[in-house]
Amino acid sequence: MRTRQRLAVLGATGSIGTSTLDVVARHPDRFEVVGLTAFRRTELLRAQCRQFRPAFAVVADADQAALLQAQLREDGLRTEVLHGAEALVQLAAAPGVDAVMAAIVGAAGLPACVAAARAGKRLLLANKEALVVGGASFMHAVHEGGATLLPIDSEHSAIFQCLPEDRSTWAQRIDHIVLTASGGPFREREHATLAAVTPAEAVAHPNWVMGPKISVDSATMMNKALEIIEARWLFSLRPEQIRVVIHPQSIVHSMVVCRDASVLAQLGTPDMKVPIAYGLAFPERIESGAAGLDFLALKALTFDAPRRERCPGLFLAWDALAAPEGTTAVLNAANEEAVAAFLAGTIRFTDILSVNTETLERLPPALGTEPPVEDLIELDRRARATARQVMQEFAR
Ligand code: NAD
Ligand code: MG
Repeated sequence: MRTRQRLAVLGATGSIGTSTLDVVARHPDRFEVVGLTAFRRTELLRAQCRQFRPAFAVVADADQAALLQAQLREDGLRTEVLHGAEALVQLAAAPGVDAVMAAIVGAAGLPACVAAARAGKRLLLANKEALVVGGASFMHAVHEGGATLLPIDSEHSAIFQCLPEDRSTWAQRIDHIVLTASGGPFREREHATLAAVTPAEAVAHPNWVMGPKISVDSATMMNKALEIIEARWLFSLRPEQIRVVIHPQSIVHSMVVCRDASVLAQLGTPDMKVPIAYGLAFPERIESGAAGLDFLALKALTFDAPRRERCPGLFLAWDALAAPEGTTAVLNAANEEAVAAFLAGTIRFTDILSVNTETLERLPPALGTEPPVEDLIELDRRARATARQVMQEFAR
């Protein structure tokens, strides 16, 4: 029998976390789940622990941990329940873990990602905000630790699948990449009506079923902005080598345009189990559980240019990449705060962009090149405070 990959799933109860466990459950001969973490949905985490019997589970606080520990004992499990941000870091770097699925949402996942990178793990990165905040320092940790960084975001997995395994050939080969964007649920909506969009409308994505934060990001196109920044680091590209097209069908997941003008694309049904399975088994391919693509049922594959007046948030990415390091961390922090406020019903949909641009204006980051991760986390904290201040002023 082959040795099984020992996997920790951070954010196991979310959309990516549950899809990961779906794929893993199909391959008990390949994967052993050794750690599962959740923030709030501890009932689901309990059920996952019963199914996968991990050595460790991590929850947010001590009360939740005591309760879950008692329940798991009742269930006859030996899982040890830990709690808090430090426990996430410990799990991500633990010697008994080979691979880490980073599926926490937001900059909250950064310390665990960096810990996994420094410890040389196989790091499956769904948590794009961690890379947007960590930037060069994150990549430095990957190289120093000898980690294998595997993109899970569908566009970045697509690009990765179109490139040879030998990274040293990438720069020579790539002219530019084209990230596809569905355009979100409001692609054709009358611009003047966007201020009245409700959280329920914003999270109803036409093609993908995802967590609430990324669904709102898809509706504002900030998701694509974060993905431009993510691609810059994953593939060592200059900002002008990253282009975006609107492709409403979400069938072409992204493309590499080579120096000789040849274009490589990766296609499939919009199902995150495909990039997850690819990350889990790389360089092999395993059954993912996703439905196959029925070419004859496809009516058309269309591509449009994103227009600044329709999706201004998208263009913030190139501006932020051209600005001093730390700017992308400020943009991400403002956006996380604004999306949370929108979902809580305290700001309007169209205010999200205003909060992001205003926070960027007020907080020019004064960090040197490749600032330490600790400084970026501190900058993230300051940017959140500034964003909240901006929102208070809006409310007056
Ligand atoms: P989700 O909201 O469904 O799940 C988030 C998970 O993180 C949950 O398990 C939650 O308990 C945990 N979590 C939340 N806040 C936390 C905190 N402060 N500390 C510790 N744990 C916390 O989100 P999702 O849609 O699964 O997205 C996860 C990540 O993957 C995001 O960065 C997102 O951008 C990225 N991603 C998601 C999709 C998708 O299809 N859902 C696609 C591409 C990339
Ligand atoms: Mg994506």
